[in-house]
Amino acid sequence: MRQAIEEVCSSLRDSFQGELLRPSDPEYAQARTIWNSLVARSPGLIARCCSVADVQAAVRAATAAGVETAVRCGGHSLAGFSTCEGGLVIDLSRMRQVSVDPERRRARFAGGCLLSTVDAATQSVGLAFPAGVVSHTGAAGLVLGGGTGWLSRLHGLSCDNVEAFTLVVADGTVLRASAHENADLYWALRGGGGNFGVVTEFEVKLHPVTEVLLASAFYPADEISKALEIWRDFMPGAPDHLRWVFSLNVAPHSAGIPAELRGRAVASTSVLWIGAIEEGHRAVDKVLSLGKPAGITKAVIPFLQLQAMADHEFPHGRRYYTKSGYFRTLGPPAIASMVHALAAIPSPASQIELAYLGGAVARVDAAETAFGQRSAPFLVNILANWQHAQQDAAQLSWVRSLFAELRPSMAPGVHVNFMSGDEDDRVPEAYRHRWERLLAVKSHYDPTNFFRLNQNIRPGPIPAADPSAL
Ligand SMILES: Cc1cc2nc3c(=O)[nH]c(=O)nc-3n(C[C@H](O)[C@H](O)[C@H](O)COP(=O)(O)OP(=O)(O)OC[C@H]3O[C@@H](n4cnc5c(N)ncnc54)[C@H](O)[C@@H]3O)c2cc1C
Repeated sequence: MRQAIEEVCSSLRDSFQGELLRPSDPEYAQARTIWNSLVARSPGLIARCCSVADVQAAVRAATAAGVETAVRCGGHSLAGFSTCEGGLVIDLSRMRQVSVDPERRRARFAGGCLLSTVDAATQSVGLAFPAGVVSHTGAAGLVLGGGTGWLSRLHGLSCDNVEAFTLVVADGTVLRASAHENADLYWALRGGGGNFGVVTEFEVKLHPVTEVLLASAFYPADEISKALEIWRDFMPGAPDHLRWVFSLNVAPHSAGIPAELRGRAVASTSVLWIGAIEEGHRAVDKVLSLGKPAGITKAVIPFLQLQAMADHEFPHGRRYYTKSGYFRTLGPPAIASMVHALAAIPSPASQIELAYLGGAVARVDAAETAFGQRSAPFLVNILANWQHAQQDAAQLSWVRSLFAELRPSMAPGVHVNFMSGDEDDRVPEAYRHRWERLLAVKSHYDPTNFFRLNQNIRPGPIPAADPSAL
């Protein structure tokens, strides 16, 4: 690998406009880190591209030398796919341009943007792009995997709002993928992750949103089962403007949380209304009257505040591990398992996140994009979040054992954005009946599997379908 990296370096040295970082460079130590410190690898070269030409040069050089290559936008891959050991990292953090067309409600953003970069530009003209809930997440990885967030029920997944992609494919050429150009690639890029090339620009639809109504509250341990049953029964008939989510966690010791709940296992809930505020108050009040929540707060807040509200809960450099899945509905055994696991949570920052999709996500035809699961609306994400390596075994074991208990009642499928690095065997499950078409697109655009550090679709013969996975 060392010899091959030297070849990449010498081929880039003269023409590369960005920065080339080797392990001996002072900036390298910081540049090699990614968000999840559970994954610590040392690439042989980090190529911080600053133009499409840089990306093309890096892809061509790495292909010629046969060097393993990771592509990095925000570095938030839970699985750690945006780094590698000894190989090349194509780092897009210098490519964060955004341009907005307020009249057409459209934006173009570059392949290295964070959600905060996109939000800042679009909110300056009162528009929003539907994306995730933590503003330091990379936009590219999130959109390519599908992308769920506060606006999903009203405006669809992030990938549903992309009209065109510009990307550098494995042979170094630049392609545009839209409904009219390379339509197969356009289909695959909406949910198929980083399998097909380095996306240098996204052309997306925007929606008018400037402020929202947000309520937060807490259910004590003995009210959690009841609250989840109410939520389960309420959400299928809820308006798209309403998003109601739960996090089963340990309440922090902070003001605003009833003193008797601090440090205790609780269900923290957020009820969001996007739309006419008066109507929102009525809808949110109704939701909060259904159970016995404590510590209710309710306020109209700027959309930008909503987008950054959870940033501090997921800082860079901690250790994270997750397993995720969908339910068609939440039966009593699943609820009981989650409540039981909450009582044994091994870190105060870990949590069981529950969201309900449906709405605009479910109205997109299943065949329209590569995204895997639109018909099972309950999304669970078991997320361990801790500080020290000595706790690794206990944290991983907590996530895995709850997941094993929940698995039999889950619907098939997984959102690739919430997969860890040891779940390679679940990638076909993520795409199910889209798998053959994805294999065909992958084999056409990346026959040597150059882009393989991702939830990988390995090019090759199409396997016989496993009916149990459909
Ligand atoms: C704190 C946190 C909050 C999150 N919240 C949400 C959420 O609300 N909704 C949601 O859907 N997901 C969410 N996720 C999951 C997130 O969408 C994925 O981890 C996503 O891959 C992160 O994108 P990134 O660009 O930061 O990651 P990276 O680690 O930079 O990349 C992730 C993958 O995408 C590929 N990739 C990155 N950039 C490009 C590009 N320009 N072209 C081609 N391939 C590329 C990489 O090669 C890699 O395989 C969250 C993750 C974290 C850590």
